[in-house]
Amino acid sequence: EAEKDWRWDKAVCRFCGTGCGVMVATKNDRIVAVKGDPLAPVNRGLNCIKGYFLAKIMYGKDRLTRPLLRVNKKGEFDKKGEFKPVSWKKAFEVMADQFKKAYGELGPTGIAFFGSGQYTIQEGFAASKLIKAGFRSNNIDPNARHCMASAVAAFIQTFGIDEPAGCYDDIELTDSFVLWGSNMAENHPVLWARVIDRKLSDPDRVKVVVLSTYQHMNADMADTAIIFKPHTDLAIQNYILREILYNYPDAIDREFVDKYTTYATGYVDIGYGMRSDPNHPKYSDKERETMQKELAKTVSEAEAKALAFLGLKPGDKMEMKHRAAAGAHWQIAFEDLKKALEPYTLDFVAELAKGDPDEPLESFKKKLQDLVQIFVEQGRKVVSFWTMGFNQHTRGTWVNEQVYAIHLLLGKHAKPGSGAFSLTGQPSACGTAREVGTFAHRLPADMVVANPKHREISEKLWRVPEGTINPKVGANFVQIMRDLEDGKIKWAWVHVNNPWQNTANANHWVKAAREMDNFIVVSEVYPGISTKVADLILPTAMIYEKWGAYGNSERRTQHWRQQVTAPGMAMPDIWQYMEFSKFFKLREVWKEHKLPDGTVLPDVLEKAKAMGYDPEQTLFDVLFNHPEMRKFAWPDPIGEGFLNTEAAGDGRPIQDAEGKPFKGYGYFVQKALWEEYRQFGLGTGHDLADFDTYHRVRGLRWPVVDGKETPWRFNAKYDPYARKANPGGEFAFYGKAKKKIPKGNLFGPEAGTSVDLTNRAKIFFRPYMDPPEMPDDRYPFWLVTGRVLEHWHSGTMTMRVPELYRAVPEALVYMNPEDAKKIGVKDGQFVWVESRRGKVKARASTRGRNRPPKGLIFVPWFDERVLINKVTNDQRCPISKQTDYKKAAVKVYPA
Ligand code: SF4
Repeated sequence: EAEKDWRWDKAVCRFCGTGCGVMVATKNDRIVAVKGDPLAPVNRGLNCIKGYFLAKIMYGKDRLTRPLLRVNKKGEFDKKGEFKPVSWKKAFEVMADQFKKAYGELGPTGIAFFGSGQYTIQEGFAASKLIKAGFRSNNIDPNARHCMASAVAAFIQTFGIDEPAGCYDDIELTDSFVLWGSNMAENHPVLWARVIDRKLSDPDRVKVVVLSTYQHMNADMADTAIIFKPHTDLAIQNYILREILYNYPDAIDREFVDKYTTYATGYVDIGYGMRSDPNHPKYSDKERETMQKELAKTVSEAEAKALAFLGLKPGDKMEMKHRAAAGAHWQIAFEDLKKALEPYTLDFVAELAKGDPDEPLESFKKKLQDLVQIFVEQGRKVVSFWTMGFNQHTRGTWVNEQVYAIHLLLGKHAKPGSGAFSLTGQPSACGTAREVGTFAHRLPADMVVANPKHREISEKLWRVPEGTINPKVGANFVQIMRDLEDGKIKWAWVHVNNPWQNTANANHWVKAAREMDNFIVVSEVYPGISTKVADLILPTAMIYEKWGAYGNSERRTQHWRQQVTAPGMAMPDIWQYMEFSKFFKLREVWKEHKLPDGTVLPDVLEKAKAMGYDPEQTLFDVLFNHPEMRKFAWPDPIGEGFLNTEAAGDGRPIQDAEGKPFKGYGYFVQKALWEEYRQFGLGTGHDLADFDTYHRVRGLRWPVVDGKETPWRFNAKYDPYARKANPGGEFAFYGKAKKKIPKGNLFGPEAGTSVDLTNRAKIFFRPYMDPPEMPDDRYPFWLVTGRVLEHWHSGTMTMRVPELYRAVPEALVYMNPEDAKKIGVKDGQFVWVESRRGKVKARASTRGRNRPPKGLIFVPWFDERVLINKVTNDQRCPISKQTDYKKAAVKVYPA
């Protein structure tokens, strides 16, 4: 009876990369209930605690509902002024003026967008199109850079195409789970429920191994819980690989390996670019050289041993060109791989990697041996899962690559129930950040800005003149922060993301944002750290206040419809991009630009005219309102009519031209953007279905060919692209057909020759290298950061849900009771956590859900009052540019 006026509709959870389907009930333009969707194949009716409270994230008391601009007493923009409400029109005018100032002075590299793995697919597509095809800048990077950039780099290097081979069905089909740095119980809880279900269905046969640097909830279900020292997972992988090659050669799937793989390794930068980051532009070449020499002296015994196979010794091969080529790699032979792995004996790795000082060495060794047995047992299926433990790692790309190496050698990949499966953190890190390509180097469908062919394809599909897209890779997330500090970027716009809370070494960036001559726009739903540093805040529609689509970890794309109106003047991100695009005439942005490195972006106005464009037209007309898009009946009243009414400025309800309440861009706009976007992937292995199909089904896993989804890629039984690439064969990893051997190869074919890699994945060897910062006498603890079950990312939404807030009201410093005793604190007392970069105060927990070994603490990052990113280290993987949030050296003392 109570539900009689409710309208139920299918939608998607907006939190983790699991991608649960939900049912959303509305009444009187308000979400009144959310429950798990029983028809959703991912979660089959189940949600985790965050999912059940999805409705409440929208109704916090301090929801942002009006644009807020920093102004002086006269009401003019002033960086030092106080926030005052303004109309959308005024907000856009100031934003556009400031944009034109920065763009005029610095050109396309002087402006930037911070994007997100929580963007809807259409939002990411609109943002990428606006900045890349409109403003001719590639300075857009999502917070997904902090989340899974290492996974992406490894996919591309290993398989030549992004995203997992397998799918969640593997959970019910496998015999063994190996979790590498993945706290699934808290971060992918519904998937973890499926893992538990599988384990309990056949407890003797099904094995669960959890590798972590501290004990967390997953250990409760584990047959083996391995606590290793931070960063040594790479050495453990090499031990497993060594065991396979030296002691279990019969376990190698020779046929699979011979037909479908090749061996590779790459340049080693021996920690350079990390321990003191000589790559930072503030250093001169001379300073860099000095730093390199100093750093060479710090190479540890373990590193030196690992490097011996290359014939390198500390200090060798450290020229800039080698460091710059850290991402390059070359072919090696089986014997080279074997030789390279020789040092990783059980004794060497166990000594290096044992993470719990209280655990006897023999016990740790036994666990490593048990892990090897799980992998090598004939007929045993194995799934490896990982998330941030691998990805947030200064060797993130390498650890991702090496887990594939293990699975590929054994032929346990791309098969039902067997495979290495990278779980993603955010709901659309796959669907938007990766597939749409909202990274500084990417275009949709795995294309990249540096490739002329890819630019040409994108320019055609975007209907912009040839030569419009900037060929230079833009600034990545941390680089945008650094460029804001250095005055190289002077205008930045943030969407679906809280960069000043989520970026490591936060003190630095907060200061730079407020003290430099720049303009920062933050589109947000609630106040937080980033709105504090903003010059302009734009109130933004949330999940069910707009249409959208997300792509989850198993390549499943899921769409939902708008359910309710956003409060006050809050507007969808897509609307914001489109309205802003109306402030720029083609002649202002498509003229010639000289970039700081001397590259000239040509004047493309003549070409634009030949395409029928008038230089006085706006970017909106070209990018979002062209005749192809109008085929879907563009709702014109939402455009200029809205801005001219000033409705938003005086607080009246937002109305469309007919006076009806404004509902945001709806069906037609979403469909138009979707249909344009999916053209990029058709025929490339990224095929997506049409818009209306997704609204009928509970998601589909791409590639979707002839209406059918693909559960396992690269496997000819299931993947039409594998059948096409290798007719009559069983598998095809559709990597690049030919690779030109670069200069400087230490092994294998001559430089300049080509090797045929058709349909082959690469088995990489990567040496163990120490992390950039390790505990010492002054900073004796490891700091590891992460998430907790109840809160999402920076906590702006979940901390406003009373039930979630009460469950976990503050971030705690989880520490070993012996360590607490040693520094004189008891459970619940406040401590300082201090690194070389900053310090925070929080309560110690010695009996909580996370139980670190001696010498390590875990602090979650959701609580802005415990801004742990003041303490973390912003060093990155030199290949993926992903930050390592899992390793900083700190001291802990009573507050
Ligand atoms: Fe599912 Fe993740 Fe949402 Fe929980 S947070 S309901 S596991 S998608």
